[in-house]
Amino acid sequence: MHRITFQQDEMTYDAEEGQWLYDVCEAAGASVPFACKAGACGTCATKVVHGEKSLGAQKDREIRTLESNGLDPTQYRLLCMADVHGPLTLGASAHTQKAKASLGLCQVRIEEYRPLTLTVCEQRFAIKSGEIKFTPGQYMIFHVPGIDKIIRRSYSISSHPSDSKHFEICVRAVSGGFCSNFIHRLRPGDCIQVEGPYGHFRLAETSQRDVLMIATGTGISPIKSMILSLLDQPDTRRIRLFFGLRNVSDLFYTNLLSEMRDTHPRFEPTIILSQPDPVGWPGLRGRVTDLIREQVTPEEASRTEAYLCGGRAMIEDAKKLLQQKGMSPEHIRHENFF
Ligand SMILES: Cc1cc2nc3c(=O)[nH]c(=O)nc-3n(C[C@H](O)[C@H](O)[C@H](O)COP(=O)(O)OP(=O)(O)OC[C@H]3O[C@@H](n4cnc5c(N)ncnc54)[C@H](O)[C@@H]3O)c2cc1C
Repeated sequence: MHRITFQQDEMTYDAEEGQWLYDVCEAAGASVPFACKAGACGTCATKVVHGEKSLGAQKDREIRTLESNGLDPTQYRLLCMADVHGPLTLGASAHTQKAKASLGLCQVRIEEYRPLTLTVCEQRFAIKSGEIKFTPGQYMIFHVPGIDKIIRRSYSISSHPSDSKHFEICVRAVSGGFCSNFIHRLRPGDCIQVEGPYGHFRLAETSQRDVLMIATGTGISPIKSMILSLLDQPDTRRIRLFFGLRNVSDLFYTNLLSEMRDTHPRFEPTIILSQPDPVGWPGLRGRVTDLIREQVTPEEASRTEAYLCGGRAMIEDAKKLLQQKGMSPEHIRHENFF
């Protein structure tokens, strides 16, 4: 047994050799928040006060996620990526501290359910008490009741931040996925517990750079919130969106994006399908990375900032290409969904 001390909760727990720190936190009732549980989101980043060596070496993925959350990898660890191999003292969790200043854990009621495709739906929630204050790009953690425990998953807010009594999410039902399918089955009047908002994926403040948004699938969710907010601001920056989906049957938000383009000529959405049927799609074929290759000039890249959301592979490829075009890394922000 190894003694784990949680300084922020003022408690200890005796963990077994090799026990996953996520299981330790759940069993101990520690207040460390978890979301992806795969080292992608950074929600569980926590300071290690003593015993760092007993967690083993950090993987590149963990270091990347900590850095993209603005955290020092020599001080913080992602508890979802570590097993216990010795006594450990944990300090403050990066995101628990933020939760105290935000909505915290609360009940929300489904106000509207909108199916967008066979697998993607939009849910609109009303806050039962209190108010939500989020910056576009942030996400909420949903507490989905499992058989013997609560399962937490993150979903990015897709709506405009001005409405403090409501928020919306856009969710793809993952085949065999527990929470995404649970959320798909929610209907108006149902209630669910959420906490947040969390996340560091947000628009650069006071920037005058042109904006390039890149999203695949439901990665459009936080990007939509960002675009809605940007289009409200009285500036003239060019806002481009590269939106990648697979097939014609996966298309959603097309009318919304066209309406936004018609109302705001500085907004230029481009949709590209990676696996369209041979007939029936008159638009672009390929991947969002093809659009970067073909449509972003080095001169544009040098005066543009980019916001990327979707799967890790797309984000890594897109980041590389943007940098090859001359965009500096500090002007590229991203959120990995999986
Ligand atoms: C910060 C953040 C924000 C997110 N925002 C959104 C959002 O706005 N909309 C949204 O739809 N999702 C979003 N996600 C993903 C979401 O949190 C869940 O991971 C996803 O819904 C799957 O959960 P599940 O419980 O249904 O599947 P699980 O039961 O966790 O997984 C079931 C199976 O599906 C695989 N899997 C898990 N996730 C995915 C995926 N996304 N695509 C393909 N296979 C997968 C797993 O490897 C597993 O084999 C976000 C993730 C993060 C980290």
